[in-house]
Amino acid sequence: MGNGAKAATKRERNAKDTKSVGKSQLKSNEAAKDIMCQVCRSTFLKTTRAPALTEHAANKHNKTLQDCFPNFVEVPKK
Ligand SMILES: [Zn+2]
Repeated sequence: MGNGAKAATKRERNAKDTKSVGKSQLKSNEAAKDIMCQVCRSTFLKTTRAPALTEHAANKHNKTLQDCFPNFVEVPKK
């Protein structure tokens, strides 16, 4: 009998943890939008990879990544 009650408590705790993680994830997504094209002011997620930014620069402005995103530093893979 006691075993079942314990399992339920554990499950409840796990559900709470998942909820708080989801909230902080949402916040960090908002803060992560900080790559801005200096030419057209389009914003990109911090996680956008260099090839996508290069494509934007080339297709939209006929420029290079460095022209449109001088502050861009590619995050090295962990
Ligand atoms: Zn642009």
